[in-house]
Amino acid sequence: MSGYEKELIDEALETNWIAPLGPHVDAFERELADYVGVKGALALSSGTAAIHLALRLLGVGIGDTVFCSTLTFVGSVNPILYLGATPVFIDSEPETWNLSPEALERAFQDVETGGKIPKAVIVVNLYGQSADVDRILNICNYYGVPIIEDAAESLGATYKGRASGTFGKFGIYSFNGNKIITTSGGGMLISEDIEAINKARFWATQARDTAEYYQHSEVGYNYRLSNILAAIGRGQLKVLDERINARRFIFNRYSELLSEFHGLNFMPEASFGRSTRWLTTLTVDPDISGVSSKQIINTLSEQNIEARHVWKPMHLQPLFNGCSYYRHSDTSVSDYLFENGLCLPSGSAMTENDLQRVVECLDNYIKPKDLGGIRSEKKQP
Ligand SMILES: *Cc1c(COP(=O)(O)O)cnc(C)c1O
Repeated sequence: MSGYEKELIDEALETNWIAPLGPHVDAFERELADYVGVKGALALSSGTAAIHLALRLLGVGIGDTVFCSTLTFVGSVNPILYLGATPVFIDSEPETWNLSPEALERAFQDVETGGKIPKAVIVVNLYGQSADVDRILNICNYYGVPIIEDAAESLGATYKGRASGTFGKFGIYSFNGNKIITTSGGGMLISEDIEAINKARFWATQARDTAEYYQHSEVGYNYRLSNILAAIGRGQLKVLDERINARRFIFNRYSELLSEFHGLNFMPEASFGRSTRWLTTLTVDPDISGVSSKQIINTLSEQNIEARHVWKPMHLQPLFNGCSYYRHSDTSVSDYLFENGLCLPSGSAMTENDLQRVVECLDNYIKPKDLGGIRSEKKQP
């Protein structure tokens, strides 16, 4: 928390607005819409709920297909299943780790001849960085298929100077506890299409018809964000830019401190945008470093430092057995990232001492003799 939240929560308590609507909800929607520069925003109980509503707005239903980034959190994909549709998974590209335009193109070419054109494409922006949305939009516009931008991890990032999340027909953000700003749990659906946002608002409020009594003609959900949580969100939004600076600083410190380690490749930042560096992520080349990402995670864990694997791709999940998958090229980039990737502790509140401790652990416990050595003398390539 930033310190701004308490006053706003107190205000919600004092005015007795303890409901999944209220003045903080309205203000949070307005402030977020202003921050990213869109017309419409709908505050929701989660980012997953926002994706669910976006898919329904695009008419996704039983028997439809949806193209989706394979390297992501399952929250991007579960809503496809809620609607009885089938995901088709698209690989990452090495430049951004995000959706590969090459693989997307091939997937479209395949369905053009006899297959089923998808109802939507979900483009995920991972670890604070935007996908190459212009290239993706070119392809999707050609086939007339709308994009949902899953910007749960990229709030505050930019692509060619514009806010990440604002390029598709719909964009979604998440305020889950692990995200760059949080309401403990929450999400936002954004769009230029106010009518669509209003329809989603109706569904998210149990689809209550305009009547004197409780009347319902459509299926709805209980998906609205509470006024108290929206108060937290408003306080958090005030410090989003500070958080981004902190995360970028942490990333830069890690890359300085680890520059003498061989075989570590930090997630690249594509020239077309600015990443928030939500998490500091990298891949470890075991042939050069002599150590696997798994060994690093385990070693840090023994020192009570939590590092994590990169997302396990959806096409490798038992839940999605049998779903189609399109690789970037002959090799699957997302498989490589999963096998060799690593997320380092990256909380905005990390101090220089914390950072030093992580690096020292790598230094002390991953020794050349034990495991081949990532800190050995600089080798000639
Ligand atoms: C966190 C996250 C979501 C889901 O957001 P929730 O608010 O937790 O439902 C969706 N997609 C990605 C990529 C995420 O990281």
